[in-house]
Amino acid sequence: MPTHEPTDFREHETAVRAGDAYSVVRSEDGRWYTVTGPCPTCRATVVFRVAYGVLGPPKRRRGGRRNRPEPLTGSIPVYCQCGYPHAERPPESPDSGCGALWDVSVPTPEQGATS
Ligand SMILES: [Zn+2]
Ligand SMILES: [Zn+2]
Repeated sequence: MPTHEPTDFREHETAVRAGDAYSVVRSEDGRWYTVTGPCPTCRATVVFRVAYGVLGPPKRRRGGRRNRPEPLTGSIPVYCQCGYPHAERPPESPDSGCGALWDVSVPTPEQGATS
């Protein structure tokens, strides 16, 4: 059973806690990144998918070479989507977490990014 801190919902920017490890996985076609790691605030493990390099509708080309966006560098803004109940969350809020927002840096290929 993962630890979860039932903090009151609050939209806030936070930062990765020292020692927390995140995995940043690039999808096969390079259009998605999946970030997995603990929420700095409520400690739930958050799986966050971001679209990347999607400019307009995907090209309908089967096989052959596809336009593969350049690997993402820098950091990915992630927000908590732990799915646990948090008090004070407005019912109209689309968030499903504690309101935390933080940046996860994307490892460079030299650092062993999973691609
Ligand atoms: Zn939570
Ligand atoms: Zn959280």
